[in-house]
Amino acid sequence: MEIKDRILVIEDDKSIRNFLRAILEANNYDVIMANTGSEAYSLITSQCPDLIILDLGLPDMDGMNLLKSVREWSGLPIVVVSARSHEKDKVTALDMGADDYITKPFGTSELLARIRTAIRHTRTVATTPGLGQSGTFVSGSFVIDYDKHRVFVDGNDAGLTQNEFKIVALLGKYAGRVLTYDYIMKEIWGPNMTNDNQILRVNMANIRRKIEKNPATPEYIFTETGVGYRMIEADSC
Ligand code: CA
Repeated sequence: MEIKDRILVIEDDKSIRNFLRAILEANNYDVIMANTGSEAYSLITSQCPDLIILDLGLPDMDGMNLLKSVREWSGLPIVVVSARSHEKDKVTALDMGADDYITKPFGTSELLARIRTAIRHTRTVATTPGLGQSGTFVSGSFVIDYDKHRVFVDGNDAGLTQNEFKIVALLGKYAGRVLTYDYIMKEIWGPNMTNDNQILRVNMANIRRKIEKNPATPEYIFTETGVGYRMIEADSC
């Protein structure tokens, strides 16, 4: 199964928007668009994009301000694409937490490469315990604590093993989306893992025994029969 990464493009110039939509969709990204900073805010929290492409000159605010405020609560990768080519602007944006800075006009392959790098970086951090992923995933009384590598239900440590935690962390990263058995197997046990899902099913049974009140009618991790698993969406991004 292929999982499309969702990119939020925040750009008010119509021709650049159309150009970005065309190249991103052609490269298998799910694209959402915002004209203004305020439109962007609501899409960031409601659509949970995997990456933001941010223009600095927006009609209602300076993109730098949007960058700064998103960084106060989110590690979401942000690639700034701007006509401002001064070194000072680049340094300011990067210091404020932009993952990359591309000057207009830009080459398509360069942009795609920067996007892949920014997404890969956050993904590696998010799904590999011990590499600095921080923060929490919260849905009701279910909490994934990436700092402690623990899962809590109603405030109690669920006592997951390392592999169980990795599976839950991966599903949490893509909360709301179905991950196939094959995808999860390869992410957790490596690319050479067999297609036999037995080990995953055993792990999932153990996870459910530890986190669900009634493992037969799960509240947090759902089975898409014959396809894979899906975690409930977080209370917010
Ligand atoms: Ca602009």
